[in-house]
Amino acid sequence: MAHVSFEYFPGRSEKAKDQLEETVLLLAEYQPEFQSVTYGAGGSDQQGSFDAVVSMQTSSGVPTASHLTYTGSSKEEIQEFSNKLWEAGIKRIVALRGDPRDCTKELPFSDTPEFVAALKKCHPFEIAVACYPEIHPKAESLDEDLAVLKAKQDAGASIAITQFFFDNSSFYKFVSQARASGITIPIIPGILPIYNFSKVCEMAKSCGTNVPEYIYEAYANGAVCGSTELEIASELLKSQVHDLAYAGYESVHIYTLNRVPLARVASEAFLQAHQELSHQLQVA
Ligand code: FAD
Repeated sequence: MAHVSFEYFPGRSEKAKDQLEETVLLLAEYQPEFQSVTYGAGGSDQQGSFDAVVSMQTSSGVPTASHLTYTGSSKEEIQEFSNKLWEAGIKRIVALRGDPRDCTKELPFSDTPEFVAALKKCHPFEIAVACYPEIHPKAESLDEDLAVLKAKQDAGASIAITQFFFDNSSFYKFVSQARASGITIPIIPGILPIYNFSKVCEMAKSCGTNVPEYIYEAYANGAVCGSTELEIASELLKSQVHDLAYAGYESVHIYTLNRVPLARVASEAFLQAHQELSHQLQVA
């Protein structure tokens, strides 16, 4: 069955926390398979992440994962945080290296696979990990990236969520290379709605994500026709998730940025494409 999942970040102010709670309840309408909350690398706002994860799972009933990074934290801090999660009924972790600014602390684990194994030893968490269809900017090669992903799977990760990408063909190529490297866990495409095109271009540059020419053209043409940025982003999103559905992908992970409108567009377009597909199968 097709489904979506959503990513949020913890609200800092009371107003932002209320808005997050409201967004989570509105998007719960799409019956996400899970939702996740980011975690400040180096342990910044650890309590904020914890509170958001627990409150979102309680209020929406949607299984909620806590992201957890190890750079900048000690083994004891990680153990304590994961115990707290488990005791609060949080059974899923998105396990990450993290890359905080100005961190000189020694890493508590030699690599992310060792971190995944340690979390699994702590409690039987369901562990998701990150992967990079257009290669992690610090990885030396695709082979290195794939070897790390395979090691994360072997250490107990049960799904991988991708860095955001716009060029589906690079994602399809990555998945087939991952499969050829013995990676069998589901690889969930990470979808970033564009609320602010110039900011997204900056982010994409720092993450090594390609912004294809047709996206620049869509914004240039949209400006001429008087379309709003939201309208342009909606059309791009619909087309991206429609293509993923027709390519056989049953899940997408939407980086909501704690906002409803484009997460709604992506969810509806993706689930509707799957409905069309199952209708076509019934008719055939
Ligand atoms: P790994 O699995 O350890 O590495 C991935 C690849 O990058 C490997 O090829 C590895 O060799 C290479 N690599 C990574 N770091 C280095 C390095 N320092 N030197 C050399 N090679 C390196 N960050 C947060 O702080 N909080 C979050 O909540 C968060 N959530 C994320 C969710 C998703 C779905 C994704 C895709 C990323 C998220 N990040 C988050 C960012 C993530 O922490 C960084 O991308 C980090 O650099 C790599 O983490 P990883 O666990 O994928 O690394």
